[in-house]
Amino acid sequence: MSPDPLTGVVAAVRDPEIDVGLGDLGVVRSVSRTGARIVVRLAPTRLSCPARGEIARRVRSALTDAAPGHGIEIVWERGAWQPASVTSAGHDALRTAGYRVAGTAARCPYCASDDVARAGRFGGAVCKVPYDCRACGSPFDVIGTAGCAVLPVPDVRQGGS
Ligand SMILES: [Zn+2]
Repeated sequence: MSPDPLTGVVAAVRDPEIDVGLGDLGVVRSVSRTGARIVVRLAPTRLSCPARGEIARRVRSALTDAAPGHGIEIVWERGAWQPASVTSAGHDALRTAGYRVAGTAARCPYCASDDVARAGRFGGAVCKVPYDCRACGSPFDVIGTAGCAVLPVPDVRQGGS
């Protein structure tokens, strides 16, 4: 079964907080179309939880443009998101925004130093782990997963040497 072309429409919707498509964030689980009904399954990152209303609005808007006249249902699959689902483009966008995905080597997103220290506790309701860079002094966050488990994920190869 090949994915519905509308999957690409949903994957291209930008995350409201980070300038990256939902597909690159690993948020899009499936998009299926039955008759005049579209069901979108999304796996929210903990980071995106507060932005879910806005994500849903953007997904509906994009689908309404791409497939007018369809009923749209958005299903949130809690806990389904995995850091391994983030593409290398997603990693790049997250790093640009000052985040690291848990499981990748902690490295300062600003100066690329690995002389960083975890800055205490997990960050509240949104699952971010604060770090401080000792080289340039910048604070940055590492995104965990549901329940703040830090899962080992394959490192995303960076370009260059
Ligand atoms: Zn730094």
